[in-house]
Amino acid sequence: MSIIKDFFKDILRYWYLLVFLIFLVVLRIVGYENCLFHFIFHYPCPGCGLTRAFLSCFRGDFRQAFRYHPLFVLIPVIVVLFLFKNVKRLKWLYYKNLIWYFIIFVFILTYIIRIFVYFPQPFLN
Ligand SMILES: [Zn+2]
Repeated sequence: MSIIKDFFKDILRYWYLLVFLIFLVVLRIVGYENCLFHFIFHYPCPGCGLTRAFLSCFRGDFRQAFRYHPLFVLIPVIVVLFLFKNVKRLKWLYYKNLIWYFIIFVFILTYIIRIFVYFPQPFLN
């Protein structure tokens, strides 16, 4: 129960993320793209493809999921770290900066690789 209570407390603490999410939903409703980064820069962001990856994963098509975004497997890990950050045995993981630096590094590295492999067109212009 404490985990759920903490989760809602965190949502209230990070209210601006909720406002941003609502902003994105409104953008989607009025016909703009899913990704604000892509909408502004006409270029995919480091998270582009995650939704499609999860949808493919839920359909059981893991090959396609990895093709859409190979780091979709990290998202449940991040969610678990976030949800159980107040659980005594897992607390140290959440507060270990090295883990977050590693996740950010892997995302940036993957982004760079994906740009050159999957989205090389803007560099050719
Ligand atoms: Zn994006």
